[in-house]
Amino acid sequence: MYTESAVSRYGSAIAVPGGGKPMAGALVGMVEQSVAIRLRGLTRSFGDVVAVNGVDLDVIDGEFLTLLGPSGSGKTTVLRMIAGFERPDSGTIELAGTDVTSVPPHGRDVNTVFQDYALFPHMSVQRNVEYGLRVKKVPSADRIRRAKEALAAVRLDGYGDRAPSQLSGGQRQRVALARALVNRPKVLLLDEPLGALDLKLREQMQVELKEIQRDVGITFVFVTHDQDEALTMSDRIAVFNEGNIAQLGTPSDVYEHPATAFVAGFVGTSNLLETAAAEAVLGRPGTWSVRPEKIRLLGADEAVGHGQHAVRGTVREVVYVGMSTRFVVDLAVGGSLMAVQQNSQPITDLSHLRGQDVQLVWDTQHEYRVGE
Ligand code: ATP
Repeated sequence: MYTESAVSRYGSAIAVPGGGKPMAGALVGMVEQSVAIRLRGLTRSFGDVVAVNGVDLDVIDGEFLTLLGPSGSGKTTVLRMIAGFERPDSGTIELAGTDVTSVPPHGRDVNTVFQDYALFPHMSVQRNVEYGLRVKKVPSADRIRRAKEALAAVRLDGYGDRAPSQLSGGQRQRVALARALVNRPKVLLLDEPLGALDLKLREQMQVELKEIQRDVGITFVFVTHDQDEALTMSDRIAVFNEGNIAQLGTPSDVYEHPATAFVAGFVGTSNLLETAAAEAVLGRPGTWSVRPEKIRLLGADEAVGHGQHAVRGTVREVVYVGMSTRFVVDLAVGGSLMAVQQNSQPITDLSHLRGQDVQLVWDTQHEYRVGE
């Protein structure tokens, strides 16, 4: 059970400078913010594989920053280097302004939550959460109080006496989170912590985890390969590709203004107008991106409004996905685009449009030039 008082008590006990609750917008344009983690020129190879290739990154105090990227792009290696489990070949790691590059994991003020969170099965939830404090020889009364506060912060008030086997997957994951939070780290590193949960629970936990982070005000660095998860939870996202950060920005920055064709494809559906198609439709060279939900379908003969671009094509695929319908349209100028429409009309079976000639129309403000 969530209790406001316990959470605020817990939050204040952590004493994060500045309250630690920046909104996404507040992160942009503020000049002096304290930096929780500073990575410079971070590089790590395994044999011939360059896992991390000169990463520079500042994580702001109290923010929820996600490392997003495909499998093998170097996210986990960066996280492990921040935690101290892996040593960089070159580059530096600072935590709260102190160089910790050579400091072992236990000397760093960070905690890590893994996907495989393995609770001790023979211990109650309360004792699982207390474990780290017991190791540190924190006196019993203090230990019990802090574990209760941590459980309240993850909305598990009153679950202390249960065994882990009596909890759902999401509840077990929250115990793992409480076990990390109880140490009051400045920074919490989370490596795909929701990966083992089914989709529904995962979506629910995404919202909850973000709320918990706001309440406790700790800096979260979260690793995932799931773009929806990253967009849902993050203040900022660092999109990784082949050991480098391809783009760093707020979720809307990254989604609406992808810096490279890779980012456009990895975050959302890659909907690109390239070279010849761009010339023909937009009258401009280069590669351009238009997100599917910005595109409307019009009949082949319907008039197009001012400030809009239109392209002719033939509907190849109509895919009903519940809330919306996706159309894949082969363009007369070559290539294809996807359009998505909400199923807000009474008739939602639009499969008869397959094979029809249509126009795809969008406001010119929704076209974005994409780097290479
Ligand atoms: P995933 O989402 O699959 O966990 P990731 O983006 O976190 O991927 P890393 O785990 O950081 O990627 O791996 C980056 C690259 O380094 C991969 O090619 C991986 O095979 C390699 N690598 C990572 N750890 C080791 C290791 N201990 N020994 C050898 N190669 C490794």
